[in-house]
Amino acid sequence: MEQDNRKKFAAVRAILVARRAIIMERAHTLLHELREKNPSCDGLKDGFDDPQVLLMIAGHDKIELRRINEALMAIDHGTTYGTCRMCGGHISIARLKAVPFAEKCLSCKKAEEEALEVLFMTPFGTASRRVTA
Ligand SMILES: [Zn+2]
Repeated sequence: MEQDNRKKFAAVRAILVARRAIIMERAHTLLHELREKNPSCDGLKDGFDDPQVLLMIAGHDKIELRRINEALMAIDHGTTYGTCRMCGGHISIARLKAVPFAEKCLSCKKAEEEALEVLFMTPFGTASRRVTA
């Protein structure tokens, strides 16, 4: 079963591993820059040179890194990777390649987006008026 998963999602796995390598590389670079530029932490008030900005980027990467690791764990050890959370159907490999963290199949995702669109695009009041009319 685990072997099957690894074989089945080999392409998705490769994307996740490559993505992780890029993030690790960038984190190392950021950390290096941070140490170099920030021994005393003054005179760094503008934009990208700001250690805070660098930390924010690192923070965003940290979240993605966690999701990547979770996805890899799910592929290697889980039984539900590639299974839609809503309908239990299979999420296509093409979709997983594009969105390795996808938890819903394309049709469920579309249905959800349409539902959200109705929810947010409908002017307040018209939805309930339509029901009572
Ligand atoms: Zn689905």
